[in-house]
Amino acid sequence: DEFVEHIAKTTLKENFGFDQFRHEQFSAIKSILRGENALVVFPTGAGKSLCYQIPAVAFEKIDAAKNGRPHLGSGITIVVSPLIALMKDQVDALLRRGIAAACIDSSKTYEQQQLTTAAIREGRLRLLYCAPERLNNEGFVESMKHVPGGIRLVAVDEAHCISEWGHSFRPDYLKVARFIQEIKAERVICLTATATPRVADDVARAFEIDKSNVFRTSPYRPNLRLLAESVSTKQDKFPKLFKFLREHPGSTLVYVTLQKQAEQLADDLKDEGFHVAAFHAGLKTELKAQIQDDFMASRIPIVVATIAFGMGIDKADIRNILHFDLSGTIEEYSQQIGRAGRDGKPGHCMFYICPEDFYLRENFARGDLPSRQSLRRLLEDLFHRDAVHTPEGDVIKLNQTTLGRTYDIRASPLAILLATLELRFGLIRAITPEYSSY
Ligand code: ADP
Ligand code: MG
Repeated sequence: DEFVEHIAKTTLKENFGFDQFRHEQFSAIKSILRGENALVVFPTGAGKSLCYQIPAVAFEKIDAAKNGRPHLGSGITIVVSPLIALMKDQVDALLRRGIAAACIDSSKTYEQQQLTTAAIREGRLRLLYCAPERLNNEGFVESMKHVPGGIRLVAVDEAHCISEWGHSFRPDYLKVARFIQEIKAERVICLTATATPRVADDVARAFEIDKSNVFRTSPYRPNLRLLAESVSTKQDKFPKLFKFLREHPGSTLVYVTLQKQAEQLADDLKDEGFHVAAFHAGLKTELKAQIQDDFMASRIPIVVATIAFGMGIDKADIRNILHFDLSGTIEEYSQQIGRAGRDGKPGHCMFYICPEDFYLRENFARGDLPSRQSLRRLLEDLFHRDAVHTPEGDVIKLNQTTLGRTYDIRASPLAILLATLELRFGLIRAITPEYSSY
């Protein structure tokens, strides 16, 4: 096994030019090379593709080293992917790296398909990309049963599409598991950026993936404490903010939506005796650089900022991230709170929310506000059904058990959803979710 791991590492270096595996890439690759099925849940851009591309290339090297080169070839890896444009990008990138890859899709001419088929037959192809619709084509399925060296691996990209609980259910995905059995694929790797526990369960069940082979880049940041507090009016936020800042010293970012607000709130804070600067895209370049420097060097402890602040700011000891206004999107919010506590010491993230915020940010959470019913569904999905019926008291406390089951869910959507439920629908009267996550 040490030998197999060594091959995986040299493949990373020699064929992809990278020095190190990221996150859980290596664990996922090892389980695939051991012949097990796996599910990978990493956020977009984390590097899911390598989890099947490395094995696809490594199989041949392992075969060659162990048994000498098999005369039938080392088989291929099939990648099922829902978007033709993405498949093309990937194939081009692989070809640039000298890795034999092709994709079969409806845009290909007969001649092109013949070339691909010939390459497969002669054992020259390492990866074959195809859309799930292709699995309806009997000729295709039949030909995959006779690939010399066999189907070593099937990678199912965007695997959440198989789950009816997911937001992008694709009926064609239901055929993938059948296809894998028919063509006697040796193993399967499923990949997705978005799997709630329920969706992950569905995928794991459909492809017989062991719990121990579910790999996540943990977004869990145990040192961050995420808090949300709802107030009746915008005005009520000020005393809360002042109090919070007095009680929580250290480098602090206070996010607001508008440039003018950044200036005003900074002035208000100065009046209260805080040492603070405002930062937004409307400032002169030199002033912006100055404020950044002062913040980095902890000469200015508090910056009231719009979204313009933060890009490229990597200050390890930011202690507090406060949201005086709602973020534009959940992703934006997650990114912003993710700047707290990078040194591993405690960080506090607080957001204040009031009904007015919803008028300012009608489309704050991925487009329109969700309906009451879809919110409930989403919450059920996040917490599992039994934990959802909450409005029995004033306070929801998310305990560790709930957290344990939903640790992949960033706290931000939870907090925003809870706040939405409360303010739009009166389902909840106060929120103090005292959990840490990211
Ligand atoms: P995902 O499918 O998870 O959204 P990709 O597989 O497309 O992400 O990878 C995103 C980018 O990260 C790609 O440019 C890829 O080359 C790069 N990448 C992935 N793994 C590594 C690594 N171990 N070292 C350096 N770059 C990597
Ligand atoms: Mg991808």
